[in-house]
Amino acid sequence: DEPTTALDVTIQAQILDLLCKIKEESQTAILFITHDLGVVAEMADHVVVMYAGKVVEVSPVVELFEEPKHPYTQGLLRSKPVLNQRKAKLYSIPGQVPNPTTLGESCYFLDRCDQCLDICRVKQPPLRDGGDGRKVACWLYEEEITCGK
Ligand code: SF4
Repeated sequence: DEPTTALDVTIQAQILDLLCKIKEESQTAILFITHDLGVVAEMADHVVVMYAGKVVEVSPVVELFEEPKHPYTQGLLRSKPVLNQRKAKLYSIPGQVPNPTTLGESCYFLDRCDQCLDICRVKQPPLRDGGDGRKVACWLYEEEITCGK
């Protein structure tokens, strides 16, 4: 869990190399918990994105970075700096993580989402399997809703 947090980039690279070596030698998997998108890109084959204690997106790493589906994942990727791109201000997802003691039936990301639908206010979206190795918990991807059926 966050094994490279607060390390300088040189030590971080050494730790990541060591973990990769151990993984190869012992023929095992590593479950890596981090907020560092650079570490995710470097280390992961598959990514599980969580928000307020719930899984909101599951994806192979390349597809996640190329086409994030959940609005929270989209916001995370929008907020990372890009080399050679000058911006006056980096994007940040508006609002705060909800208080876990006051969570209701609505989507937990509702107050911070700029794409919400009426149903998001009354019902949590299930984690839906897209059949392409990706899963997302968001009403935007429910055909019945987006097609108006
Ligand atoms: S379910 Fe609705 S509120 Fe939640 S992330 Fe999707 S669009 Fe936004």
